Amino acid sequence: MVADLHTHTNASPDSELSFRDRVALAAAAGIDTVALTDHMAVHDRLREPIETVDCTKVVSGVELNCSTAAARIDILGLFVDPGRMRERVGDRSVSDGATRRPPEMIEWIHDCGGAAMLAHPGRYDVDLASLVAELEMAGLDGIEVRYPYNEYTFVSSEMPEMPKTPIDRIETIRRDRDLLPSGGNDCHGGEKTYVGTVTIDDAWVTAIEARHHRYA
Ligand SMILES: [Zn+2]
Repeated sequence: MVADLHTHTNASPDSELSFRDRVALAAAAGIDTVALTDHMAVHDRLREPIETVDCTKVVSGVELNCSTAAARIDILGLFVDPGRMRERVGDRSVSDGATRRPPEMIEWIHDCGGAAMLAHPGRYDVDLASLVAELEMAGLDGIEVRYPYNEYTFVSSEMPEMPKTPIDRIETIRRDRDLLPSGGNDCHGGEKTYVGTVTIDDAWVTAIEARHHRYA
């Protein structure tokens, strides 16, 4: 059983994949559990923190952007209550999170019953250990340690030379702080179609789901 806990649909402004296509794409790649983590949005087809659609488990998620003093970052909420998170994000545009701080975003996620994970930690040009320490104080639950950086380097000239922090260093930071591991492809469809480039196994999903029950 394999999972992808970071994907987008047309609930994000930069993806055209419908809910049905997203689920079908995951199923065709042999992915059993897929999280929909749209930018400041929760897909309106989602009703529960996790539900089964055509034999694929679909996790309700969200990707919230915010800023620290050092960087603009993204935080994933996994297993969020769709209705409650929809109320939080309302009709705010993607850029609105830029003026918000991580503690507020993590609080939104926890208030909506979700686990808060730092997205693609290798993208930030910062001292990652300091950033993670700051986020952990705000209640961060985990880190997205598996991410297809090499694919993004290939398609995007705006994000060269990734990851900025080596993968093994990211994993060491995570383990030292006993944060939950996660992973996903950040697939948007189109030229950013990375279904199955990285996968994670069920044990990681189970641990994140258990954490969500702490907040639900
Ligand atoms: Zn994303």
